Amino acid sequence: MSRIAYVNGRFLPHNSSAIHIEDRAMQFGDGVYEVIAVVGGKLIDVELHYDRLARSLRELNMEMQIPRVALHLTVQEVVRRNRIGEGICYLQITRGSAPRNHAFPSDPRHSVVVTARRSQPASGRVGRLGVYVITTADLRWQRRDIKSVSLLPNVLAKQNAAETGAFEAWLVDKNGAVTEGSHSNAWIVNRDGTVITHQEDVDILSGVTRRRILEIARTDGMEVVEREFTVGEAKDAQEAFLTSTSSFVVPVTRIDDTVIADGCPGSVTKRLRCLYLEAIKQPSFVSV
Ligand code: PMP
Repeated sequence: MSRIAYVNGRFLPHNSSAIHIEDRAMQFGDGVYEVIAVVGGKLIDVELHYDRLARSLRELNMEMQIPRVALHLTVQEVVRRNRIGEGICYLQITRGSAPRNHAFPSDPRHSVVVTARRSQPASGRVGRLGVYVITTADLRWQRRDIKSVSLLPNVLAKQNAAETGAFEAWLVDKNGAVTEGSHSNAWIVNRDGTVITHQEDVDILSGVTRRRILEIARTDGMEVVEREFTVGEAKDAQEAFLTSTSSFVVPVTRIDDTVIADGCPGSVTKRLRCLYLEAIKQPSFVSV
């Protein structure tokens, strides 16, 4: 079955869909995006994703030009036309095409692209067995809270990881603190059983999955602290894991050359993963 993409008002064959060469995403990385999981044909946590999209746009002086309802209908249609059972839906909104000039165009018409693809269920092997991550310098700009399509430092970090067979790269700031992964949020569980993840600020993307896991952990009575943690602390932790829309909750069993605890997914991580997989079946997580 050939894939269908939505581009600026039209549903097109994926292979021949395109945006203009002077689109500002192409020229300057001037745009934002969202990634939404599809499970059992249903979109997970769409409202939180649309809220974050609206916020990213606002932070870049790009008010939404497409009403949320229309955007949602488009997203649903792309998922339907591509017959996605388990997969991922991508939304990209750019400041549109204009003659090349760093300053904003006076009357921008945003480009809107929605695509979807099937993927292995995030509930699969990786999530059960755990992964290896490397640490690498966080080379990004100072507004990581904006989900910008300018992802070059993330791409370079992930390439470093891929070259060593790692699943993810954890990004480390000048003070030795782990901010997050190249495309996921980073967590540890210390020897007291406290669940720790970087506080929500401009240094990290406020992950939708991160937010849900915080809620789930607190509701389950776990001790949770949002604060920075160092690479040393992570390597000495009882457990480590990462969260994202595309992989849910994934145990981290090795960081660089250090095996975490006994090298097996930890019990807190497994519990959070299990509770999350249950939670996404609830109506409050799923779009209608
Ligand atoms: N941080 C970064 C840098 C990311 O790219 C992602 C994935 N979008 C995340 C964290 C996790 O966010 P979410 O749970 O919303 O997918």
